Amino acid sequence: MPPKRQEPTTHVDSPAVEDYLEQIHNLIEGKGYARVVDIAHNLGISQASVTNMIQKLDAEGYLVYERYRGVVLTDEGRQIGQEIARRHEVLTRLLSTFGLDEETVYKDVEGMEHHISRQTLDVLTLLMEELEGNPALLKRLKQKLSRTSL
Ligand code: ZN
Repeated sequence: MPPKRQEPTTHVDSPAVEDYLEQIHNLIEGKGYARVVDIAHNLGISQASVTNMIQKLDAEGYLVYERYRGVVLTDEGRQIGQEIARRHEVLTRLLSTFGLDEETVYKDVEGMEHHISRQTLDVLTLLMEELEGNPALLKRLKQKLSRTSL
């Protein structure tokens, strides 16, 4: 049986929710606000679906939606959005270091970012930093990689 998650069970807690909160967090960080039209564009879905989901997330306490001000994250919503964005960044940097193509990296990261614990993320962050600071090691690993994937 998988270990129980620590989050309270009253919350919607799914990759979809995390993707919304990640996108909203990124938009607010980048532009200062998150509009339904931008969220829909970034997630590649209709504005109607976004509005629908935003109402649910509002009811769950992750954000506050005001028709004219747009979407504002609550502390809880911001925490989750930030955490997913951090996982996204670390995983992307780690995989890109090895020269994997952008599309593969993006696809894999979007899947993995929902399934990584804080401890694992710390390990990967450490690895990424070490690799970025050690070009000789990275070169050696990339050579091995190109041999094994032939
Ligand atoms: Zn992501």
